[in-house]
Amino acid sequence: MILSPIGRKMDAKSGLRSIMEDIAMSVVNAGSEPWINLSVGNPAPIPAVMSMWRQLTEQAVSTSFEMSSCGYGPSRGAPQLVAAIADYFNGMYQWGIGPENVVVGPGSQMLCFIAAAIFAGGSPDSRAIMPLTPDYTGYQGLCLHADGVAGIEPVIQRVDDRSFRYALDEPAIERRDDIGMLLLSSPSNPAGRSLEPGEYKALVKISEHRDIPLLIDNAYGEPFPRIGEGRVPPQFSDTVINCFSVSKAGLPGERIGFAIAPERYVSPMVSFMTNSMLHASSLAQATVAIALRSGRLDTLSSDVIAPFYANRRQLAEELLAAALPTDINWRLHAGSGGMFSWLWIDEPWFSDMELYQRLKLRHVFIAPGRGFFLDAHQPPRASWHGTQCIRVSLSADEPSLAEGIRRIAAALRELQAGQ
Ligand code: PLP
Repeated sequence: MILSPIGRKMDAKSGLRSIMEDIAMSVVNAGSEPWINLSVGNPAPIPAVMSMWRQLTEQAVSTSFEMSSCGYGPSRGAPQLVAAIADYFNGMYQWGIGPENVVVGPGSQMLCFIAAAIFAGGSPDSRAIMPLTPDYTGYQGLCLHADGVAGIEPVIQRVDDRSFRYALDEPAIERRDDIGMLLLSSPSNPAGRSLEPGEYKALVKISEHRDIPLLIDNAYGEPFPRIGEGRVPPQFSDTVINCFSVSKAGLPGERIGFAIAPERYVSPMVSFMTNSMLHASSLAQATVAIALRSGRLDTLSSDVIAPFYANRRQLAEELLAAALPTDINWRLHAGSGGMFSWLWIDEPWFSDMELYQRLKLRHVFIAPGRGFFLDAHQPPRASWHGTQCIRVSLSADEPSLAEGIRRIAAALRELQAGQ
């Protein structure tokens, strides 16, 4: 069998894919001892959230099954959802958008993929650039062409003894002459970092100056699921593509996301949808339309999801502070958004992969940090920051989180002692 260049590119394991496969295999082949999985990107199974989506799905089945599921729909998205999205964002942010500014897709991952295929790649002067790594590992496989995605390493700021933050390296972005599109998550996966107003302005300025799209992925942010503080509310602007998703608001399996952008960006994205998958699931779109129109997605985000993750974050930080050895130089990223704690072990002896392997022996999974940086063509440098970080999911239940953190602390002690 001969794979095409695109086939080879798509077949390659990018980001954390090989780790995720390792986790899946280990769990399948495990004996009776349960695993504590702190590596997952799944939202927590919150009963009130699951029950709301179940009710709304039942409502969609009873009111629109025949219309939604028994015929094809438009590639832009089901008209009732597209209209609900436009009304919702006009009401919330006074954007003045219409259906021509909206495209619905099967998850925001696919919309990012479509945008990268349309706006970047295919030539060395047009890459999808992640302006602030670490960022969502799923971006690394977006481009159909080899070498089509690149990342810029951040400026690291030590905030205090136990915390740090990443800052945008604006001059490094300005120096690049290969930007076809900029893309980033805010709040980010993994660090929970939200764009600051000044950084947002700087990125918009670069995108306007070069006439390239700036894709902002709001998967964890405003207006839903609203996990953590947003420093800049989503804005409608000439060069910005805003992506939204209901996955982190509790419906990842139904695969609904949408992008809002100027028509010149949205039109080719709709055509891509027509050429590739026709459209996203219509029944799920009907469900999301009800969630938006009824205001229930808003209430769920502010009354249930946001407080849930705020509590989990506080708990995780307390547990880490109590469990991690005080003579190890560890720091948490200062951002408060998203579904993860991002931990930096600022020690030359530390390796994310070694910790991963040791924790695996203790039946715990974490996500090693290096996969969130884009350094695909270089072997990891000694003491490189990316290999000194790990991501811990806040979605695990409280006992698992507590026990997992206790085992992380024990494994760290071993690594420190060189055992
Ligand atoms: N964007 C970010 C930042 C994510 O972390 C994820 C999933 O983990 C996605 C997008 C994928 O979202 P969706 O389920 O809408 O495709």
